[in-house]
Amino acid sequence: MKILVLGSGLLGVATAYELGKRGFDVTVIDRQKTAAAETSFANGGQLSYSHAEPWANASILPKLPSWMLRSDSPLVFHPRADWQMIKWGLSFLRNCTKTRADIATVNLLRLGLYSRERMHVIKNDEGFDFDYNDKGILHVYGSHEELEHGKKQIEFQEKFGGKEKTLSRDEVYALEPMLSHSERNIVGGIHAYNDESGDANTFCVKLAERASQRFNVKFEYGVTVKELKKEKNKIIAVSTDKGDMQADGFVMALGSYSSVYLRQIGINVPIYPMKGYSITLEANELCPNISITDGSHKIVYSKLGKRVRVAGTAEFAGYDTSINEKRIEPIIRAASSLVPKADWSQEIKKWACLRPSTPDGPPIMGRTPYNNLFLNTGHGTLGWTQAAGSAALLADIMESKPPAIILHGLTLDRYKV
Ligand SMILES: Cc1cc2nc3c(=O)[nH]c(=O)nc-3n(C[C@H](O)[C@H](O)[C@H](O)COP(=O)(O)OP(=O)(O)OC[C@H]3O[C@@H](n4cnc5c(N)ncnc54)[C@H](O)[C@@H]3O)c2cc1C
Repeated sequence: MKILVLGSGLLGVATAYELGKRGFDVTVIDRQKTAAAETSFANGGQLSYSHAEPWANASILPKLPSWMLRSDSPLVFHPRADWQMIKWGLSFLRNCTKTRADIATVNLLRLGLYSRERMHVIKNDEGFDFDYNDKGILHVYGSHEELEHGKKQIEFQEKFGGKEKTLSRDEVYALEPMLSHSERNIVGGIHAYNDESGDANTFCVKLAERASQRFNVKFEYGVTVKELKKEKNKIIAVSTDKGDMQADGFVMALGSYSSVYLRQIGINVPIYPMKGYSITLEANELCPNISITDGSHKIVYSKLGKRVRVAGTAEFAGYDTSINEKRIEPIIRAASSLVPKADWSQEIKKWACLRPSTPDGPPIMGRTPYNNLFLNTGHGTLGWTQAAGSAALLADIMESKPPAIILHGLTLDRYKV
């Protein structure tokens, strides 16, 4: 069976690998020259399987008014006459209740834990290096209020298989001695000891190579999708700048752009670009080795081999991927106070890209009203974490097998499209 996967980011490549492994005849197309050249290029590196609280939760509501007035806050809206952004924003606000956040948490955690399992299968089968680190993720807190919120979240997640440990300040320093140099007041932490980190770009590029070598998956780069051509409840071709491409089945994995092409065929998925930034610099021996989440500044830190990557913040600015220095400065400020012993005087690589985000948090995978069109998109802040699990689940669906975990809350059915 011939499958055309649209997009060679983490989700497209992982899906193509999984489908190729199961005997499908797979071709991947992408407008870029290599795999992982857009959002999957320089992300925060965290495989944050256990961190399942969505951005849309009740604790964010009181912070929003002050954040929206400051250009250096963790989340910024640039108001514009963009109906998709307004709709998405209203839906995000509707999801900021405890009940809705709890539902999303349970669904995200189930997918996260399964993704860990699938990531280990790929790691063991392929054995390539991607600056993988299994020390877990250390969440640090600067206020008792935030630490209490974090503790309640882990207690809730424990009922659904989440495993994390609360730490005192001394235990934080014992786990990561380099944090004792921090200029911040750290009141405590949470160790997500089953979480991991690694370089998503290296992983994705190497996985694409393996998919091609082992399962004959074909990658056609420099091909831009223009539209999906439909006939009744079937997709008959994808029109591209290089001509029409036919297949028996199609997988939509165009990241933030998925919604643009789905809307053309009447599928209104609420995926909107949430812009984020990262900086990368050379690590020295005084940099922490464990991946860190600094929740109050909404930034994450990962040591990727000899480099340090710091990423985060959210900006709603449509499909603009340009680098706004005003958004980079707070990341550098927050990171240099947390990790003052890194060499902040060196040249720093800056990057910005668009998280394909849903207002409630979980991705959208599986079937559509077109019987040969499948989705693996909308993974927002957790696409690296969830790529391996999402790929295996979509492959189950495409093989008409019962999926390995319940898909409730992870499919299109949860929205009225
Ligand atoms: C700053 C930042 C930090 C992050 N940190 C983390 C983290 O620590 N952990 C984590 O789990 N996740 C993280 N994420 C999220 C994660 O990177 C994304 O969820 C993931 O990369 C999305 O992958 P994707 O394959 O859906 O999209 P993409 O990687 O964007 O892939 C989509 C592909 O579609 C192609 N494309 C788009 N339109 C067209 C077209 N018309 N024709 C042809 N090709 C097209 C693009 O070229 C691209 O290659 C972060 C994201 C950002 C921005």
